[in-house]
Amino acid sequence: MNEIAALTPTSMQQKLNQWVEHYRQYTNEGACASYIPALKKADLNSLGIYMLSDDGIQLKSGDTEQSFTLQSISKVLSFIHACSSHGISHVLEYVDVEPTGDAFNSIFRLELSHPGRPFNPMINAGAITVASMLPGQSPDEKVDGLLCLIEKMVGRKPRINEEVFLSEWGTANRNRSLAYWLKETGFLLCPVEDAIEVYLRLCSIELCIADMAKIGLLLARDGIQPGTYRHVFSKEIASLTKTLMFTCGMYDYSGRFAAFVGIPAKSGVSGGIMAAIPSGAAMPSNNRPDSGPWGIGVYGPSIDKFGNSIAGVKLLKRLAKEWDFRLL
Ligand code: GLU
Repeated sequence: MNEIAALTPTSMQQKLNQWVEHYRQYTNEGACASYIPALKKADLNSLGIYMLSDDGIQLKSGDTEQSFTLQSISKVLSFIHACSSHGISHVLEYVDVEPTGDAFNSIFRLELSHPGRPFNPMINAGAITVASMLPGQSPDEKVDGLLCLIEKMVGRKPRINEEVFLSEWGTANRNRSLAYWLKETGFLLCPVEDAIEVYLRLCSIELCIADMAKIGLLLARDGIQPGTYRHVFSKEIASLTKTLMFTCGMYDYSGRFAAFVGIPAKSGVSGGIMAAIPSGAAMPSNNRPDSGPWGIGVYGPSIDKFGNSIAGVKLLKRLAKEWDFRLL
């Protein structure tokens, strides 16, 4: 029996179960995010993964049922929504597409660079600018627009975790500093407090890893909904978003993640990671289970010093290597 024949959904599921149990031990080496008080309550040892392929293979293992707040994964969705509403070129007048290598909430480059355009939409400065330009007159309208987009993606309108929102709202001094700076330099398109409210409400949207896998698959399919074949967003937006995930999606570990894991992904400090594996991206290989696109959701709230799920990164690295998911 050759390698291809060995890779059935059943054999893949068995491997995934082994890997999840193996990598779960690393959850003890990280910690839950504590600077947002409500996130400290998560179960440190949770680890779960959900994978969805274009032709309907569903693999899931570990703690798959938990909902968690998107945190920085929401930056992917708000960027898609802003680009769909205003056009890519307009959005890029206010936020660039350059990686920084700095911490997600860093402020110092905003002053160093002229005219002060945030470096990319995957860091806080860029995401606060994007939040400020979402369509709608009030924070509620802006947030609701994004919830409606998510409804199209996952089939239900998600809830906002009010406890997490309030916990962040009360402690968001650094994000407020970023927003005041952006206002000063002309890169904030609504009042500071409104932008912060929108940004933090989006961070507090609750989804589960099955939803992440659906959105990842949609990105991998260039914005085309499985089943209806309708574009939820354009191919150009999908390409740009995946590129930003690949270059800037994993905090200041993004270069190493691209080099050693090799797939477009975005993480959040709550421990979620959403990945999109485009079709035909890998070299033809006996180990590749399926050449079609895949979407992946991972949850493991124990994070490393960069802000990424410590066991989640290891798990993705293993499966990207073993199943040839690497882009390059
Ligand atoms: N709401 C968080 C913050 O702004 C998001 C952090 C993250 O997941 O990167 O600090």
